Amino acid sequence: QAKREQKFIYFYSAGLDEQHLRKLTILELLQTAVEKDELTVLLQPKIDCATGRIQGAEALLRWHNQQLGFVGPDEFIPLAEQSGLIKSLTRWVCEQSVKVLEQLQPLPKDFTLSVNLSAVDLLSNEVISLIEELEQQYPQLSQHLVLEVTESVLVEDPETAIERLNWFRNRGYGVSIDDYGTGYSSLAQMRQLPVTELKIDRAFVQLLATSPVDQSIVRSTIQLAHELSLSVVAEGVEDEQSWNWLKQQHCDVLQGFYFSKPIPFEQFNQKLQGESDA
Ligand code: C2E
Ligand code: CA
Ligand code: CA
Ligand code: CA
Repeated sequence: QAKREQKFIYFYSAGLDEQHLRKLTILELLQTAVEKDELTVLLQPKIDCATGRIQGAEALLRWHNQQLGFVGPDEFIPLAEQSGLIKSLTRWVCEQSVKVLEQLQPLPKDFTLSVNLSAVDLLSNEVISLIEELEQQYPQLSQHLVLEVTESVLVEDPETAIERLNWFRNRGYGVSIDDYGTGYSSLAQMRQLPVTELKIDRAFVQLLATSPVDQSIVRSTIQLAHELSLSVVAEGVEDEQSWNWLKQQHCDVLQGFYFSKPIPFEQFNQKLQGESDA
């Protein structure tokens, strides 16, 4: 009996060592990812729910390293957040986003590009100088950029988070609550946040067509958001029935594989220009 337990512990800790080693490797290699040109931004179309036309995009980071191959953002972003490295990644994504806005010609007047901000970014003051710098380069930035933050910003330091979000709102930026429904914040807390958009997590959207429980959750979330004058985005729309259902509920914007996966700039630009010709 004792021997078997020992063996279990041995394998268990060997597994942990391997995981630990991978984390350390990722953190080391990620430090030079920007200078070695290993990062790309993909764009996932945001679709106007009523018309099915492209209304904007979300910028999503991709990393390919020679030694590790493709590493998903779900794996490297949390590590970058813990180490503070996220601030330089966010800077890079925002710089690329300005280039995207400059290169999409003609840019529709109401086109919005969403970027993800980590709690670390929002709570540091570097994000302020970053945005001010980018506004020098692209003065209409606040008209086109939306910042996505998660409810986790409320957990760490609500006062600073609200102050920062107000700074963005006062300059005209859109602010979106990402992954809505997966966090632990109460409705009362949410109401304190100066936001313009609520993005329903794909966990509630993916099975909408066949799940009455998810339908109830999404229906009441849309109603509530509209009562608070927030725009509603449903992410993870994977079939036409879900789109039809969301249209009936007056959802505003959709994102999901049914419309498009995240794609490179050139491909996105073609899609967008193709629509304006039609
Ligand atoms: P997120 O912000 O919730 O982004 C949406 C994720 O859902 C993306 O995964 C997207 O590819 C995926 N998705 C979109 N539509 C569908 C669908 O119909 N079905 C399914 N199954 N998935 C769909 P991705 O690109 O792997 O990103 C994962 C997460 O990594 C993001 O979740 C975000 O939290 C983080 N992330 C990605 N890029 C950045 C970034 O530049 N900065 C920060 N801070 N986080 C980022
Ligand atoms: Ca997001
Ligand atoms: Ca999300
Ligand atoms: Ca997410």
